Amino acid sequence: MKMVEIKKILHNKIHYYEQLDSTNLKALELAKQGAVEGTVVVAARQTAGRGRLRRKWESPEGKGLWFSMILRPTIAAEYCAQITLLTAVAVVKALQVVTDKKFSIKWPNDIMLDGKKVCGILAEMALAADGSIEYAVVGIGININMSSEDFGAQLEATATSLYLATGIEYEHEQVLKAFLDEFDLLYSHWHCCGFALIRQDWLDYSCTLGHKVTVRDNDTEIYSGVAEDMDDYGSLLVRNAAGKIESFDFGEISIRSC
Ligand code: ADP
Repeated sequence: MKMVEIKKILHNKIHYYEQLDSTNLKALELAKQGAVEGTVVVAARQTAGRGRLRRKWESPEGKGLWFSMILRPTIAAEYCAQITLLTAVAVVKALQVVTDKKFSIKWPNDIMLDGKKVCGILAEMALAADGSIEYAVVGIGININMSSEDFGAQLEATATSLYLATGIEYEHEQVLKAFLDEFDLLYSHWHCCGFALIRQDWLDYSCTLGHKVTVRDNDTEIYSGVAEDMDDYGSLLVRNAAGKIESFDFGEISIRSC
């Protein structure tokens, strides 16, 4: 068995803000200015928290852990989708350490608890001229103490928090530390040994595989079938009714299941 050197890259460079428009935007700005790998940006409140495809991420003050990390992975750009997937695995592992609940991953970027979204992940990359990854910013929003009123009528049906699911108010610091520990471990492993074990964890936690899914491009349905597997790059393999298998990465699509 290969020994993995675990680099504690994330624990020492944590910047706290009372309020930001978006932790991803701040982290992207810092990364552009040369901030080192492992820089973490946390905000008590985001006024314009972002999801994919310009969707909004609700991030009221003190109710969740809203943060982004700057990474400078030395991995070929074709594997960049794996960053979201390994982050999702780290979130699940961390939340399962902190709570006694079971969490699952809805492909590609949502963490689910009791069938509702408890965490979203948004990875953004900048590529260097030679096509390698110059830096990546991974934003994570974990609903910790959100109540039904905090979600409002629209989100209540699809979103939950650790508090709503357990009745316990968790400390943000405790959740952050648990995540950073898990992420450091997986990130080191990814660099040394590749994606195979992380992919296996991801498959174990997935609530997408085996389900009928609809692939959408914005709001237009472009394909439907059963999600059968995830390939080595992190693309989802979907078999349609005619038996044809297509693979989807997550630049341009969203997918509904779980
Ligand atoms: P998708 O679920 O399609 O992948 P995103 O991951 O980009 O979308 O997340 C944005 C969507 O998540 C929003 O359109 C909204 O429906 C929902 N949302 C916004 N804020 C929250 C939150 N704090 N908790 C759970 N869901 C949220």
